[in-house]
Amino acid sequence: MTYSVIIPCYNEEAVLAETHKRLTAVMSGMDGDYELIYVNDGSKDRTPEILRELYAGDPAHVRAVMFAHNSGHQIAVSAGLDYATGDSVTIIDADLQDPPELIPVMAERWKAGAQVIYGKRRKRDGETAFKKLTAEIYYKVINQLTGGMIPRDTGDFRMVDRKVADVIRSMPEHARFLRGMFAWAGFRQEAVEYDRDKRFAGETHYPLKKMLKLAADGIFSFSFKPLKLATALGVVYLAAAVILALVFVIIACCGTAAGLWWLVPVLLLTAGTLHVCLGLTGEYIARIYDETRQRPLYVAADVLGFDGEDA
Ligand code: UDP
Ligand code: MG
Repeated sequence: MTYSVIIPCYNEEAVLAETHKRLTAVMSGMDGDYELIYVNDGSKDRTPEILRELYAGDPAHVRAVMFAHNSGHQIAVSAGLDYATGDSVTIIDADLQDPPELIPVMAERWKAGAQVIYGKRRKRDGETAFKKLTAEIYYKVINQLTGGMIPRDTGDFRMVDRKVADVIRSMPEHARFLRGMFAWAGFRQEAVEYDRDKRFAGETHYPLKKMLKLAADGIFSFSFKPLKLATALGVVYLAAAVILALVFVIIACCGTAAGLWWLVPVLLLTAGTLHVCLGLTGEYIARIYDETRQRPLYVAADVLGFDGEDA
């Protein structure tokens, strides 16, 4: 039995030593060999140097993939999946918000036959009311659009069986919303509840812009319903046109002079909805373009700890 742990790292110099200590303490007590795969997602701080030090200190267990540029958390995790060799693969944040001590609990479930064991957040320490509220609304929207596919209060913290990791690796899409991809893959899934801690040190690397991109990837990669909005609105406009035409014919017959003031809001409403529909269509077109370019998902400038590939 071998265990891989993937740790995506973007500017995590403040936490890596502690994270490595806690992960090592947990993993060395496991019933099999393990590898800790740190993916440096184009950090601008001392993260790469620290990873080299960690590797020098424990070459038997430490692996590192160094990206040539920042590609985002979901891509960093995807790279980890490419390099992982374990029978089970765990994905965990570098900032200790996901407690490493939960890994043995997940492993027990895995050995009992579960193939995806995902962490479900009981409470979220250190997260703003804004983040909690937007997360709540987002899960409502995406589950409405996908027919309840994505489990609530889950992130990417999970242990998956080799078979599941291979399925995700076989999905080449660039717009990666991993928790959706795992949900789509299926298999025997179980939740393990945990309290999400505060970030150990440093600051979040998920500013609003990155969060919005992840949210959009989730919706547009897993639902075609936004495209159908244009059709639905078209039908509403047609119905409104027929009804209003009748109303105006009646008004004209009664000889009441009708002003044209109502034209302004009607025109603005039409223009507004048209632009929204165009924008939604554009989201899909941009993603189609992104896929057709067939760029590699990430560029690994350097790897450490993989046979024959040491930089
Ligand atoms: N991360 C990454 N690339 C990025 C942003 C974040 O690899 O572009 C990593 C980060 O180092 C951490 C994990 O993704 O291990 C989660 O990020 P963070 O803790 O900043 O997000 P939050 O927990 O605030 O949502
Ligand atoms: Mg975090």
